[in-house]
Amino acid sequence: MFISEKAPAKINLTLDVLYKRSDQYHEVEMVMTTVDLADRLEFVLTEDGSITVVSENRFVPSDERNLAYRAAKLLQERYQVTRGVRIYIEKQIPVAAGLAGGSSDAAATLRGLNRLWNLGIETEELSLLGSEIGSDVSFCIYNSTAIANGRGEKITELPPPPTCWVVLAKPSQGVATPSVFQSLQLDHVLHPDTQGMVDSIKRGDYQGICERLGNVLESVTLPNHPQVQQIKKLMRHSGADAVLMSGSGPTVFGLVQQEKKAERIYNSLRGFCEQVYVVRMLGESTALE
Ligand code: ATP
Repeated sequence: MFISEKAPAKINLTLDVLYKRSDQYHEVEMVMTTVDLADRLEFVLTEDGSITVVSENRFVPSDERNLAYRAAKLLQERYQVTRGVRIYIEKQIPVAAGLAGGSSDAAATLRGLNRLWNLGIETEELSLLGSEIGSDVSFCIYNSTAIANGRGEKITELPPPPTCWVVLAKPSQGVATPSVFQSLQLDHVLHPDTQGMVDSIKRGDYQGICERLGNVLESVTLPNHPQVQQIKKLMRHSGADAVLMSGSGPTVFGLVQQEKKAERIYNSLRGFCEQVYVVRMLGESTALE
């Protein structure tokens, strides 16, 4: 018996860090949304209790370091499950890109195994479990648009934004998220207007969303990765309505409403950047197929 799940990428419309907590985590406030670039995971039931992960992507570990493996193990231990699973991951989301690829695989595993092992766990509880694996996993359980607080695990869903095209460009160099947070100097950053972003989404105001994109982690990643800065510039010059780095980077995304414009941006970036994608923001008239 097997089932499959899609694990879509997320982008940050805003990413703010409010302060550093006494437990060393950062208190964040982020508006995140889902795009239709997705990994595909297949779960095959095993009766001997073993958990194995198979992925052909050379950047993705196939052992207990894989976030999908960790999700399966957590579920198995917490709910005393005696059966096991073989997880096949078909990777589409670039790795270490700021698009929460690993977190989304972990979330898809929690959702998938909830079905495969017949556990009947509510979405909210799955989201809470996810936070034990990584801060972005809680959001990825929902595959929607939401504001995330705490260290990313407190999720409040928002209505879908007006749908648009998203051009994603990832420079070849990866970025290690923990080191970006470590280097962040909070007294020097420009904080995004999170409430304004939430209001714009609620109003379905595309222009308002474009005007309020903001990410405090750009203050760390941009100076260290000149290519990210160049991609931002190129996207703007090619006609993107708004441009931002997602997560800790290095992926940059540009928003546009017309498909033709998205294609133009795609073409102008292709020679410059190895991984470029044109995808849809999952909005009011689009769903994950
Ligand atoms: P975030 O936006 O949540 O910070 P990211 O997009 O920057 O995440 P990931 O693609 O999740 O980064 O990968 C980060 C690291 O996690 C990689 O270096 C990889 O070795 C490891 N990893 C573990 N499991 C996975 C997985 N299923 N897919 C991708 N990477 C994984």
